[in-house]
Amino acid sequence: MEPVANQKPRLIDMHVHMVGNGGGGSGGWLRLNGWHRWLAGFMLRQLGIPATALKENLEAIYSEHLAELVRDSSMDAIVLLAHERVHDPDGTPRDDLGSMFVPNDVVLDLAEKFPEFLAGVSIHPARRDALDELERCLERGAVLMKCLPNCQNIDPSDRRYRPFWERMAEARVPLLAHTGGEHTVPVVNAALADPKLLRFPLECGVTVIAAHCGTKSGAFDRDYFDDWVAMLREFPNLYGDISALVSLNRCTHLRDCLHEEIEPRILHGSDFPVPALGHRMWLQGWFDWKTFRRCQSLGNPLERDWQFKRALGFPEETATRAAKLLRL
Ligand SMILES: [Zn+2]
Repeated sequence: MEPVANQKPRLIDMHVHMVGNGGGGSGGWLRLNGWHRWLAGFMLRQLGIPATALKENLEAIYSEHLAELVRDSSMDAIVLLAHERVHDPDGTPRDDLGSMFVPNDVVLDLAEKFPEFLAGVSIHPARRDALDELERCLERGAVLMKCLPNCQNIDPSDRRYRPFWERMAEARVPLLAHTGGEHTVPVVNAALADPKLLRFPLECGVTVIAAHCGTKSGAFDRDYFDDWVAMLREFPNLYGDISALVSLNRCTHLRDCLHEEIEPRILHGSDFPVPALGHRMWLQGWFDWKTFRRCQSLGNPLERDWQFKRALGFPEETATRAAKLLRL
């Protein structure tokens, strides 16, 4: 029988950040101080985008560049993530906190323009218009909802969010929630990095993807990997992504994710534009020098991240699995 083109499994990188400064009139903003300014400049330069783009229409420059990287990679599509503002638990936006705001319409518009992009929206469930915004985003084609509880001040276990989680479950839109420490975006409440707080949306029936599988980012962060693994046994609707794990600081548990009990619950994400660096994995003897050089020298950071994972033994399903979970 002839293989039908559209039956081919789609390879998806389900964790890619949209970055913007509102230069195109989106209402978004980027506010960088000290370490974060240096980091942003570094990330842009290693992507071949001049640091001066921070003062221009960054959304346009970044999205064109990114679409080219996807076309030039093994991936068929990426989930491009919006970035919500910090809010108080009573729903008051706190623009004095946080470093970035990427409104949902930015990624929803880009997903209409570029076939390579799928829209991952971001909604603080305490927002007074949270349910309306969710509905609006669903109508416009959102494939998942992303949040960073420790950076956006979201306690997923807050019982007031039940209607919000139940609507997400009903609409079959997964929750991608950051777990573990974070060093590229300022942390508002470190205790909210705990994956155990995700028990409540899981109990409400939401498919939850714990970004970074609860691993720690900095030396002094708490490591929640074992807590997340224990939750996998309890919740069949829980997954984890291995985004940002090809790195110097977060790679510790990457090979543990190949365990037969864990791997079927793993999704591939790069966390682009967070750099993919395999140096520490090579030093630890996880692959030989030739393999390290072959992967590390790849100019396309999306492909570099994926090839490092393939070299470690992650099967293709790690990238095709998302197609079954996302609201496509
Ligand atoms: Zn991320």
